[in-house]
Amino acid sequence: MRKLLLIVIASVILLTSCAADKQSVSTEAMDTFMKFEYYGDEKAGDELADMVKSLDKALSVTDKNSEIFRLNSDGSTPLSKDSLRLIKRSLELSEKLGGALDITILPVVEKWGFINQNYRVPPKSEIDEALKKVNYNNVSVYNSSVTLKNGAKIDLGAVAKGYAADKSKQILREHRVSSAILNFGGTIAAVGSKPDNSPWRVGIADPENPSGYLGFISCRDKIIATSGGYERYFDNDGRRYIHIIDPKSGYPVDNDIASVSVISDDGVLCDALSTALFVKGLSGALRYCTENDDFDCVIVTKDKKIYISDSLADSFTLSDDSYKIIKE
Ligand code: ADP
Ligand code: MG
Repeated sequence: MRKLLLIVIASVILLTSCAADKQSVSTEAMDTFMKFEYYGDEKAGDELADMVKSLDKALSVTDKNSEIFRLNSDGSTPLSKDSLRLIKRSLELSEKLGGALDITILPVVEKWGFINQNYRVPPKSEIDEALKKVNYNNVSVYNSSVTLKNGAKIDLGAVAKGYAADKSKQILREHRVSSAILNFGGTIAAVGSKPDNSPWRVGIADPENPSGYLGFISCRDKIIATSGGYERYFDNDGRRYIHIIDPKSGYPVDNDIASVSVISDDGVLCDALSTALFVKGLSGALRYCTENDDFDCVIVTKDKKIYISDSLADSFTLSDDSYKIIKE
């Protein structure tokens, strides 16, 4: 009887430790490196990797077989549920953000060489020509088809990783994974809490030394998207040109902001806002933050100030005291 009890206890321990095995899956998708760490079964990680790869296949602007490539070359096409959902949501957000986010930015992004890595500073005439095609109002959705007019071309690069982060929640639920930290290349999903029930600590990169962190956010069940000038850029004649473009001017953003991190439950919102608040610059971004309360943010300026939403103040820990926290 005692032996049986021991066997039962041993199997329960084995089972629970199996169920809570630490898994780590890495993959490359959406032009970036992704890493998924979680406690649970192996299959969940494979499904996450499949999900980001298939999203990439649908949304890529360079893969000739992608849905978005077809839309951009044909001007009108039926799309899958994911592409449609993401386009519709991005259009709503573009409107709400006063055009600081514009998913028709592609013709301008191409001019600067960010799509094929042939970086160059285009003459203003070329930028102005490309800008004529940029306007999210040139995108219309009818049933499951999308139509582009006036030469518009779509680039979902600013929101795709946030969408992947949103989709990951369903996969984890199906596999009963309640503790995970998923890195979609700068957009992080902190799912549940750590196995010991303490909150996840998500690092905010130091824009001046992006392999290090300037601070950490403690959180549970949140998505954190960061846009930084350091992510992708080129230098020319002593000037830095970053991959975030102001849709009004057609020029890479060069304002007082070094990075913007946005935290909420909604990955697409986080990703869209991190890009758009960057475009708006510090005063515009702070104004938007006070007028909207469905997210929190950490804005890091080039002169090393950190603006943090009130509700985040207790969960943010500064680890580099050359930065100064400004409480609004
Ligand atoms: P990252 O891809 O480094 O996480 P973002 O989420 O800020 O950075 O997205 C930047 C990408 O979005 C660019 O590479 C470009 O493809 C696209 N993009 C650049 N500027 C804008 C903009 N104002 N609105 C929408 N998309 C943009
Ligand atoms: Mg973004």
